[in-house]
Amino acid sequence: MSEVRVRFAPSPTGYLHVGGARTVLFNWLFARHAGGVMVLRIEDTDVERSTETSVDAIIDSLKWLGLDWDEGPIVGGDYGPYFQSERLDIYREYADKLIKSGYAYPCYCTPEELNEARKAAMKQGRPPGYSGRCRDLSPEERRSKEAEGRQPALRFKVAEGETVVNDLVRGDVVFRNEFIEDFVILKSDGYPTYNFAVVVDDALMRITHVIRADEHLPNTPKQIMMYEALGFELPEFAHVSMILGKDKTKLSKRHGATSVTQYRDAGYLPDALVNYLVLLGWAYDAEQQIFGREELIEKFTLDKVSKNPAIFDPDKLLWMNGYYIRETENDTLVELAIDHLANAGLISSEPSHEELTKTQAVVAILKERIRTVSDIVDQGDFFFTEDVAFDEEAFQKFLTRDYVPETFKALKPRLEATSPFNKQTVEKVIRGYAKEVGRKAGEVIHPLRVALTGRSVSPGIFEVIEILGKDTCCRRINSALKSL
Ligand code: GLU
Repeated sequence: MSEVRVRFAPSPTGYLHVGGARTVLFNWLFARHAGGVMVLRIEDTDVERSTETSVDAIIDSLKWLGLDWDEGPIVGGDYGPYFQSERLDIYREYADKLIKSGYAYPCYCTPEELNEARKAAMKQGRPPGYSGRCRDLSPEERRSKEAEGRQPALRFKVAEGETVVNDLVRGDVVFRNEFIEDFVILKSDGYPTYNFAVVVDDALMRITHVIRADEHLPNTPKQIMMYEALGFELPEFAHVSMILGKDKTKLSKRHGATSVTQYRDAGYLPDALVNYLVLLGWAYDAEQQIFGREELIEKFTLDKVSKNPAIFDPDKLLWMNGYYIRETENDTLVELAIDHLANAGLISSEPSHEELTKTQAVVAILKERIRTVSDIVDQGDFFFTEDVAFDEEAFQKFLTRDYVPETFKALKPRLEATSPFNKQTVEKVIRGYAKEVGRKAGEVIHPLRVALTGRSVSPGIFEVIEILGKDTCCRRINSALKSL
């Protein structure tokens, strides 16, 4: 078989979404598994909606996910340009071929006329699609329309019969051509439509496998007709199922974060997202959930892609991210934590030696408890702030107990006198005090935790105390005493 060539062809009209990320991942794994070529092509012919910002955002997301491409923007390649907006001449050339061979014809109808015709058809119970009214215009009729100053669009002449898509995921899908109108391939402004540009590009870029979202399945018969009309060899098609929210409706903003950027900013790890995304429609067997990247490349095949819709479960993704966090080297997490802490204004983005040491300690102590890197901010902010804000419930539950003032008053000088000040020495002091006054250790520890962290849940209190240091601990005990 010839070399495998696949492509990811995003329209730059927004961020890279979870669905697009899953599509590019499947393409990438398929290419890497086969030792083939991955092409990135930017489908920016929708001038109004395409933006450079979106191109950059998509490229950033791909890089962050670690999904590289062998041909396309930045890297170039033999089959460029890789931006459709730079290929308009090529589309014109192939459109001319279709006119010459009789497969395409100019249509002079204005949007208003088409709208009228659609309404009239529906009123009479006929299908609302284009009626083919410009199909058989005589040369004179064409000339007179042009004399009126009408700029024609080009339409493809759909033949009778049926078109079969042999899909690698869905099997044979039969489309009856009578339900496919003579569709536009080149708009009156000279821009190609998606269906036309995609065929010209996939053919000229020698794409062997088109792997994409199954919302494009209804476009595929149109594309096949054009492949055949242009004498191009057909690629294989694989349409991957929709991604639904837990409520079984199409995944959308209502379900929460849907763009890769949002997950990155929320402190997800690229390997976790990749691992999660691959399971949306692919399974190696009934059990295995965790896959390393190399393992995925080795194991990924299209025959294990399901045609059933996949359900996006944010809780499972969160769980998986926690798993990956625990598998990650502390140094890597520290780098990431610095970004999150700096963004939250808790440390400077060029951390001082002291901030760095503290971040390392906090990462080590929180690593087992967090599920996203940004949880370090939510669960560990008190390590970095001057004072703490008390959680109201924690305050009421633990700091209003009658023995708390005397406890804090007694503990403060003892902690001040503790040297060296570390978790072992501090534990001794606190447990020793509790024993001395006949209290359970917890009765002392719980209020102390609220005084030092502002909350009732934290990592082991003695470790926390060691990281906070003597001065901060004593200052916070003091402030707690004042607010009682
Ligand atoms: N630009 C199209 C999209 O983003 C590409 C579809 C395809 O892969 O053919 O949906």
